[in-house]
Amino acid sequence: MNPFESYRLTSPFGMRMHPVYKVPKFHKGVDLVTTPSTGPLYAFVSGEVTHAKEGTKGSGFGGYGIVVAIKDNKGYLHCYAHLSAVSVKVGDKVKRGQKVGLQGSTGVSTGAHLHYEIRKSCSPSNGYTETESGVVEPTKYLQDYYSKEEISIVDKKDANAIIDKYLKPAWGVAKTPADKLEIGRLADELRAASGQEKQNS
Ligand SMILES: [Zn+2]
Repeated sequence: MNPFESYRLTSPFGMRMHPVYKVPKFHKGVDLVTTPSTGPLYAFVSGEVTHAKEGTKGSGFGGYGIVVAIKDNKGYLHCYAHLSAVSVKVGDKVKRGQKVGLQGSTGVSTGAHLHYEIRKSCSPSNGYTETESGVVEPTKYLQDYYSKEEISIVDKKDANAIIDKYLKPAWGVAKTPADKLEIGRLADELRAASGQEKQNS
């Protein structure tokens, strides 16, 4: 699954020759292009907006142009850089897929694109680090994030069908107390994932 399938990926995460400074430099995010050049950009994950303006020197966003930064539920900071405009403000809770701003070429940039970077932390300086130590590979992070999100949205009917059809019969023929406990635990995980009360703990 490619989280960036609606974009053209023009520069991947990793070591590269910097397009402006012409020196080898680690690219801490991915460069994505959508058309038109000021096309809308949407949040890749839900979270709280912590920054939504031009990144000034010393803020951790110097050279990033106009930036929207969104903190997810794990404390990672999702940075949308070089925007031409923002559509959210600090403190807003945004949902995945919600519009955050318009693509642009503000800051140190050679053309309209979205630089998308995921930082491990939000402070100090918005989690900025000089090297790649403070960031994660965006494609893999989003794939992991989405797969866990999907597990947490199990339909209640499906969860109960699995419990009734497979787990209850397995519990009935389980040979040891440890096996019974484990089956009970699995049933509870399914109940919790589908928004129901646990019954065994
Ligand atoms: Zn970039």
